[in-house]
Amino acid sequence: MIAYTEEQQSMATSIDADVERRHWFDWRWHIKHTIRDIATFERLLGVEFEPEERRDLEETAARFPLSITPYYLSLIDRENFRQDPVYKQAFPVSQELQVEPHDMADPLHEDQDSPVPGITHRYPDRVLFHVANVCSMYCRHCTRKRKVGDIDSIPDRTIMQAGIDYIRETERVRDVLLSGGDPLMLSDDMLDWLLTELRAIPHVEVIRIGSRMPVVLPYRITPELTAMLSRHHPLWLNTHFNHPVEFSPASRQALRRLADAGIPLGNQSVLLAEVNDCPRIMTSLVHKLVASRVRPYYLYQCDLSEGLTHFRTPVGKGIEIIENLIGHTSGFAVPTYVIDAPGGGGKIPIMPNYLISWSANKVVLRNYEGVICTYREPDDYPSRFCDRKCATCNLQLDTGDSYEHDPLGISKLLADYDETFSLVPQDNERLERREDEE
Ligand SMILES: *Cc1c(COP(=O)(O)O)cnc(C)c1O
Repeated sequence: MIAYTEEQQSMATSIDADVERRHWFDWRWHIKHTIRDIATFERLLGVEFEPEERRDLEETAARFPLSITPYYLSLIDRENFRQDPVYKQAFPVSQELQVEPHDMADPLHEDQDSPVPGITHRYPDRVLFHVANVCSMYCRHCTRKRKVGDIDSIPDRTIMQAGIDYIRETERVRDVLLSGGDPLMLSDDMLDWLLTELRAIPHVEVIRIGSRMPVVLPYRITPELTAMLSRHHPLWLNTHFNHPVEFSPASRQALRRLADAGIPLGNQSVLLAEVNDCPRIMTSLVHKLVASRVRPYYLYQCDLSEGLTHFRTPVGKGIEIIENLIGHTSGFAVPTYVIDAPGGGGKIPIMPNYLISWSANKVVLRNYEGVICTYREPDDYPSRFCDRKCATCNLQLDTGDSYEHDPLGISKLLADYDETFSLVPQDNERLERREDEE
């Protein structure tokens, strides 16, 4: 049985005089009672803002709405709430209204890479499918901040059908990521229907769900939900813990239920100034994740979305964190640090440099301790020409069930079987001049 602390009880009673114990553990009660205004927040947390600050906060919340579940609110340390990582992720600050010249509403061009409403198709073999435009809690650092609170509704089946049809017609899509909003805002029945539709598409190999429910409303992870999800394997789930204080008996139980249902779990954190921009905090976070069978997947550099200025760190902070993880702790506890490229370039991995130098037959490397060593490369590697005629190659590959793709990007430059020897930006002046001369 999960604890129902005295603090939670008194908070629940101030929200809803008729509350019973069972309500606190009912996710729908939390959705119904999400905190959406400054005054309620003050009352529940027993704090009071100066009139001027309250005015600023209300102005900010009018532009970027606020929504916190009672559960997530109950994690805030009220004695020291201004420094609290949960408070900072959930509560507006007036700096959000400072839009910098390089900020963008949609830095990742998700709307432009969208063939049908709800789908972002960026990479060759996988799509992002926005199946809900609501969340139980609005992260202040949301990259889709422009959309938060737009239309507080769940798309109906006819809208989702367009996305399903696109996936069915696009045979290269082997991986579907359900995102949003939070897909777990859908009812179990609706999700079951959606997963059944997707599963019926032969080329869809894996389905992934991106959800912050284990962190902000762990009671959503009911035995009924996990039983339903486990009927749609292979199904993966990525969640979003940013700080060790987000671990509670309830969140651990949610993760346990998901893992026990055979769902591989991953975590995507965002590097946030004054929240988790510290190697020690990050080490503690990844250790808690792996202890709950969650693999740290990505650590994101904060996007250039509007309203996130105060959360951004230099890229060097992320590299420093990764430097403090690699070698120092279990390999599977280290996430890949990525920058999601503005303009829709996708996620680009960033790493400390380990390769120091290189000769014709040796590489010079350094390890996490600063020890410098060499690796002697083979003298007689049979550098065979790959003509991509895999059926006649000595290496054994079942070409029938292996994914075939056209060469693309840098892999195209590396390929023996492709004639391309350079990639040239569209607006290269030198080449434009050449064309003019012709
Ligand atoms: C992140 C993302 C994906 C998935 O990327 P992975 O690296 O496979 O996790 C797919 N589509 C879009 C648009 C994304 O932003």
